[in-house]
Amino acid sequence: MLTSKAFIAATVAFAFFSFYALFYPLYMTQLKFHDTSDLNLLTQDNSTRWFEPKVKVAFVIVDGLRFDYLLNYENIDHDPALDNHKLKKFNKAYFKKPERFVVFRALADLPTMTVLRVPCFMTGNVPRLGSVLTAFGALPAEEDSVPRQLYLQNKKSYFSGDPILKEYFPKYLESDYKIGSFNIGDWTVDQPVHTYIDKKIKENNFDFLAAHLLRLDHMGHNTAHLASHQVFNAIKDVDRFLVHLMNKIDNNTMLIFAGDHGMVKGGSHGGGTPQETNTAIVAYYKQGFMKYQHNNRRLKKIMRSINETDDQVHQIDLTPTLSMLMGLPTPFSNMGQILNDLYPVGDYLPQVHCPNATTFDAAFEMQLLHDNHLNTLQVWNYFKKYHEGQSLFSHQEYSQVSYLFQQAEALYKAAQTMIDQSQQCEDVFHKTVTKAIKQSQKLSNQIHDLVSTTTPHDLVIFWQAFVILVLVGISYVLLVQYLYKTKDYEHVTWAFP
Ligand SMILES: [Zn+2]
Repeated sequence: MLTSKAFIAATVAFAFFSFYALFYPLYMTQLKFHDTSDLNLLTQDNSTRWFEPKVKVAFVIVDGLRFDYLLNYENIDHDPALDNHKLKKFNKAYFKKPERFVVFRALADLPTMTVLRVPCFMTGNVPRLGSVLTAFGALPAEEDSVPRQLYLQNKKSYFSGDPILKEYFPKYLESDYKIGSFNIGDWTVDQPVHTYIDKKIKENNFDFLAAHLLRLDHMGHNTAHLASHQVFNAIKDVDRFLVHLMNKIDNNTMLIFAGDHGMVKGGSHGGGTPQETNTAIVAYYKQGFMKYQHNNRRLKKIMRSINETDDQVHQIDLTPTLSMLMGLPTPFSNMGQILNDLYPVGDYLPQVHCPNATTFDAAFEMQLLHDNHLNTLQVWNYFKKYHEGQSLFSHQEYSQVSYLFQQAEALYKAAQTMIDQSQQCEDVFHKTVTKAIKQSQKLSNQIHDLVSTTTPHDLVIFWQAFVILVLVGISYVLLVQYLYKTKDYEHVTWAFP
């Protein structure tokens, strides 16, 4: 009698200890960035004319969207059974009016899991591996985010689809009802999303409208083969919905859609194969994009969509881009870079009348310079705070980033001096702006690389706790076995009476 009580008590104590050892370090050492308003440099920018919202945004996450579903790209598996997997209506619209589109090949960070990828679009940061644990409990994000900034600026944001986004940012996105995301056999899962988004587009009273479509991903998991009819039909369904949105949005709304990750031929994802990491970010705007109207050839160097550099962009680059498009401060922990390709056709102020104004537009360049500079300040500020909080980086790593930042600042100041001296029409100005933006991009890249490849201390402590826990567990089991074998337990008095 006494003995079983003793074992129960010891087991309960062990369970408590396990829980404590596993989760306490995570909460103790995680950097918390919820109080960001005073840290957010962009809120201190008083030149409000730069922050005129440029467009409204309808944003669609297409779960499991592979890049090769777009345009004329050969399927990455070289499997003829997948040749027909294309967004056919979308591709037709693209080739008819390419000036209305910008298409990026986007690289998903690892692991390619929806629960980790989706919040990235909104925070501009790469979640730590440790947050896999908390993510499944869908804890609200404490980080600064695009939805949070929308909320602070009294903008109207709506959402429908997979609950992840809503659960991460519960206070900031208005939604209709909860959509269950775990029944992978349900091919009707996107229908309520279509209905809701349709309704909101018709009402046309939003600043930010977001949807997360699940059917494509579900059908991949469900059939475990991308060549299945179900996947093919899901692609057709996504295609139909996207083109429908393109037709329905007004002239001031930009439609942006993106995949959270790709999928392997067997319908799964999570790893780092090109099939899983190659996804897309696509924008559609009826009035077109500045990149196609602007003839300063140098600026092409900073454009990164497939028609320019065929470069890969990161999913987190969407975060500062959304901020700039909607006139919001960039989220505090953003490490992404602005996708300059997505600047819409419109009036950029102050107008500068250059003698050969048909060949370039100085006002647009000034806007790019300004926005990229703000992003540089933001990214650098985050990096400094992150480094101070965790002391993760070596002196050399830190100095390298610091040097890139100083160079970007020097170039920005040089361009600014030219503006002060009314030299915006001169060639040297265009050259300097391009260089300054290139430098900003380099800085973001470097910081993203460093932060995403350095294991934070919280994770190290977590693994240490985990190892200790396993050792204690093993000792406990051995002790129990030993006591039973030797029958010494009858004399054990160390537990509660
Ligand atoms: Zn997914």
